[in-house]
Amino acid sequence: MEDPNPMIAEVVSKKVKAVGLISGGLDSIVAAKIIKDLDVEVCGVYFAMPWGCCDKTKAIEAAMTIGISFIVLQLDERYLEVVRSPQHGRGVALNPCVDCRIHMFSRAGQYMRHIGADFVFTGEVLGQRPMSQMRHSMKKIEQGANLEGRLLRPLSAHLLEPTVPEQEGLIDRSRLLGLSGRSRKEQIDLAKQLHLTTYNQPAGGCLLTDDHFARRMQDTLDHGYRNFRETIALKWGRHFRLTPEFKAVLGRDAEENESLVSHAHRDDYIMQLRDHPGGILILKGHNPSSEILATAGGLIQKFSRYKEQPPHEVNYWPCHDKNDIRCILARPLDDAEIERVRL
Ligand code: SF4
Repeated sequence: MEDPNPMIAEVVSKKVKAVGLISGGLDSIVAAKIIKDLDVEVCGVYFAMPWGCCDKTKAIEAAMTIGISFIVLQLDERYLEVVRSPQHGRGVALNPCVDCRIHMFSRAGQYMRHIGADFVFTGEVLGQRPMSQMRHSMKKIEQGANLEGRLLRPLSAHLLEPTVPEQEGLIDRSRLLGLSGRSRKEQIDLAKQLHLTTYNQPAGGCLLTDDHFARRMQDTLDHGYRNFRETIALKWGRHFRLTPEFKAVLGRDAEENESLVSHAHRDDYIMQLRDHPGGILILKGHNPSSEILATAGGLIQKFSRYKEQPPHEVNYWPCHDKNDIRCILARPLDDAEIERVRL
């Protein structure tokens, strides 16, 4: 028998391919399952925040349950610049939701073109979030991400204009949904029907919506950072802006101390009480004066059980050379002074 024409075989067998944003949350998992069940090859993408606030493990487990491939894309300095200067405003705190989505979706779009996929889809639901999931903002995001006609929202598709893959018959629009609003009841019922049990519960989630974290992030953006990994430590410890050039971060327990030390920059200084090692402080900035070092030492003592005692001696050493240990006397600090520098 003659071999079939390989060109024709390829055209006939080419499977529809899509890039799906997988956060690990209910909506994105249900959306991915719906698209996968339409016989589409789904390539899941998880965006890792610079400070790692989402549950990557759950997202990976969910992708495995559905049986889709999965990659992690790291949000980095480019994302921090979006946070610094959003074009479309912010939500309750520092969260630039519209610009955040434009950034992520446009990177998903690049990935789509790179792997020759047909479209990008998300688990967004019309009207679920006030800033980024209203009709006009969803359109704006699609345009800003350079995905016009190629961004499918399967959960709300019946309420939105048909996308190119629907128009071209790559996707059966009748098998998509018309959900809207904040309730997740229908998604929960659907998840049960589809036997999906591995997903994150909706929670406050994004740290940019948290006032406390937002204050620290704004300080970092204002005073500069060496790379995006520095923002990981914003989640831990007590933070103090001593001067525009110097910042101190004090661990609150052994776990935080360890995390802070392991994420310190090689040029940072590490400090702790000489006779009572315990609390660890990371001093960020170049060539600290003795006054700055004494103030940082005062912070360690103030937040220790020795706060009422005369000034203690404090050891300090550069992060890159733990044998270069020097010592300074802590400067007593009053509460008002601490509040002035606390972030
Ligand atoms: S809540 Fe946070 S992660 Fe979600 S869109 Fe807004 S800024 Fe982005």
